[in-house]
Formats: sequence, C-alpha cells, structure tokens
Amino acid sequence: MSRLNDLWEYQSRELQLLKLTKEMKSSPAYQKKTKLHKILTDHQNRIHEYEEELKSHTEQIAALETQLSQQLHEYELENSELETMQQDEEVTAEELTESRKSIEKLCGKINALNRDLTKLIAWCEEITQNITKTFSDAKRAKLDYDAVRTVCDAEKENFAPKINELKKELEERKASIPPELMKEYEALRKNYSMPVAKVASGQCTGCYMKLSSVVEKRVASGSAIVRCENCGRLLFME
Ligand SMILES: [Zn+2]
Repeated sequence: MSRLNDLWEYQSRELQLLKLTKEMKSSPAYQKKTKLHKILTDHQNRIHEYEEELKSHTEQIAALETQLSQQLHEYELENSELETMQQDEEVTAEELTESRKSIEKLCGKINALNRDLTKLIAWCEEITQNITKTFSDAKRAKLDYDAVRTVCDAEKENFAPKINELKKELEERKASIPPELMKEYEALRKNYSMPVAKVASGQCTGCYMKLSSVVEKRVASGSAIVRCENCGRLLFME
C-alpha cells in the first residue's frame, strides 16, 4: 500500500466537502443573499461618505457664519461712522467718498459670503435627502436580506449533517497522516485543488507530463514520498 493512501483518501473527502459547499453556495437564495449583502455594504459605505461630506460642509458653514457676523459688525461700525461724518461740517467730500467706498466693499464681501452660504446650505439639504433615501433603500434591502437569509439557513440545515460528517472524518483522517506530509500537502493545496496526483500510463494525472521510469518505479515501490518533477504534486499509485 502506498504511503500516500491515507492522504489520497483525505483529499477525496476534502474534495467532497468542497463540492458540497459549492453546491450549497450556488442556490438561487444564496446567490441573492450574497448580492444583497454587497448592496447593504455599498449603502453603508455611501451613508458614511455622505455623513463625512455633511460634516465637512457644516464646518465650512460655521466658519462662513463667523466671517459673516464679523463683516456685518464692521459694516455697522462703518455705517455709523459715515452718519457721524455726514453731520460734521468739517468733513471733506473725499473723506465721505472714501467711507462710502469702504462700505460698498464691505457690502460686496457680505454678498459673496451670503452666496457661498446659500450654496453650502443647499448642498447640505441635498446630502441630507440622499442620506434619507439611502437609509430607506438600505432598510428595504435589509428586509429582503433577512427573508433570504431564513431560506439560506434552512438550506444550510439540509447540508449540515453531511458537511459536519465530512469535517469530522477529515479531522480523524488528519490525525493518522504525518504532520510533515500534511504540511507539504497544505502548501501545495494553495495552488492545486488536488495536490495528490495518481500515476496512470506513466503520466502524472495532475499535469499530464510523462514521468521518467525511475520516478515511476519509486512511486510504485511505495518506499518514499515522490513528487512530480514537473508540477511538484505528490505522486500516488494504488
Ligand atoms: Zn505533474
């Protein structure tokens, strides 16, 4: 008996488990659940982005409001100064013009700030509406997700006995395989679905390369663990 007999059996159970899991995940309900899960995650991410945007706009609004109140205060001061100047008989026409110009400039700044504020407030309203809509979409998707998850759970229940049985068997079989060999197998498993390949008609059935007669004889003798010289799979002969 080949030294890889236990590992070959282990691999076949592992493949059965993989096939069952794949079958379970290919049901329409499972596919729908995966799709809805993605939709829900997208909604959550979008809400987070909207909230971040809203936070940044709110901060900008607060900064603009501070600037606006400073400008308005300055405007009031300049205005009262102008009123005082208008009552002063010694004031020159140039001084009055200068004061009016300064007030006009302030008015320009105040108007620009008002425009920016209006724009930002409108953006915030739009973002808030988007958040509300995304929340409502997410709520609907969550209801669908919960319903489909119930179906998936029932389906899983059907697969569970066989899957658990295979998992238990795999654990038991693993115990009888030398840890070093298991390590090699698991390393190969990262690249190959079947790390143990049978030798048939002098070929490795993993990569279908012709094996040298020396290699073939070594596998047949069962005296050592032999790897395919081409693909590195562990070679097995019954
Ligand atoms: Zn090979």
